[in-house]
Amino acid sequence: MQFSIYNFQFAIPPLAVWLSGDTMRTMHASSTAARLKSQGHANESGSLRSRLAGFDARVLASFRRRLIAWYQDNARPLPWRDRSDPYAVWVSEIMLQQTTVAAVVPYFNRFLTRFPTVEKLAGAREDEVLRLWEGLGYYSRARNLHKAAREVAGRRGGRFPDDVAELMELPGIGRYTAGAIASFAFNRPAPIVEANSERAFCRLLGFCGDPRSAAGRKLLWEFASRVVKCKAPGLVNQALMELGATVCTSESPECGACPVRKYCEAHNRGWQHEIPLRARRAAPTSVTEIAVAVHRDGRYLLRKRAAGERWAGLWDFARFGWDERDGKTPSAIAGAVRDAYGLDVVVTGRLAEIRHSVTRFRITLCCFLAEWMAGEIDSKLRGARWIAPRQFDRLPLSTTGRKLARLLGERA
Ligand code: SF4
Repeated sequence: MQFSIYNFQFAIPPLAVWLSGDTMRTMHASSTAARLKSQGHANESGSLRSRLAGFDARVLASFRRRLIAWYQDNARPLPWRDRSDPYAVWVSEIMLQQTTVAAVVPYFNRFLTRFPTVEKLAGAREDEVLRLWEGLGYYSRARNLHKAAREVAGRRGGRFPDDVAELMELPGIGRYTAGAIASFAFNRPAPIVEANSERAFCRLLGFCGDPRSAAGRKLLWEFASRVVKCKAPGLVNQALMELGATVCTSESPECGACPVRKYCEAHNRGWQHEIPLRARRAAPTSVTEIAVAVHRDGRYLLRKRAAGERWAGLWDFARFGWDERDGKTPSAIAGAVRDAYGLDVVVTGRLAEIRHSVTRFRITLCCFLAEWMAGEIDSKLRGARWIAPRQFDRLPLSTTGRKLARLLGERA
């Protein structure tokens, strides 16, 4: 077995993973679409075009009026709402990608307290930014946020672009985030299609196809562009997202409480539970990893994970992908540390078993304690250091690394 300090994701051909998920989505989408069609759910481009055309200027004006009135009465009070500061809008939208509102609120408040302006964020060390992001996951978001802040504060003199194309030139800003910043902060008629509005749009139009297909995306972005052409595009976009998040939900759309049910094809036909097509998730893959807290004179071996690795920029204890067939014997674990770091160690005990998930991988992390015996950290390994436990609090650690650090603290 080859031991590697790098993570298991690189041992799995990413193309194969991507293809299998995509193939599964396509197969599932086509089988559900066929079933819907057999039930009389027309999805031909002609009928979709006519549904789109049905949202003419008069219908759209009434649709927006109802939507905005509902939003003004029902919007959840969130710390980034009613702020037209593009910096706050940007931070909140990046945090909300792949993450729930409830999880984001405390992170957003801490982040904005520590970095109230784009200049403050630009002047921070990456370690500090990642430390504040720790536990929120998808760390490339934080690294890109930091890079983009440096660009806005530096090259752009602190001025945020108000145009979608220019915003998309900044690291980590895609079409959706650019639309959110342009419309919320600058009231530009920039369309948005994100998970919540995407679901609502599919239902409003009665679109039975795959919303992530090229045709689906084209249709939904076109609809979003029409809806947002008005005097209050920021408000309309926020209201649509809120509708999807709280009323037109994935599992149980509350059509009875929906302000725009009058215009909804799915509601009118009773399809709201069938649409949108859901991609079947790939079955989770179970993997085992080993983490080793190597101790030497009151300090522990940690390594800053390099660019391109999972959790790049975060610090972690020695960690290895592990083949269960090799057994978790002390000599095999010591051998892994020697191969990866050039250190002779003796494994002195087992600390814990931590279960966690990263994307579709279910990881069992077996944590061991080891004592340094001889050798120096391989000079080719940049980013590995001996660190005292009192410094752990200042460093951004992976979530499991933080758990392991706490366990070591409890034993001290
Ligand atoms: S009527 Fe129902 S399905 Fe249609 S947009 Fe409203 S909540 Fe969603």
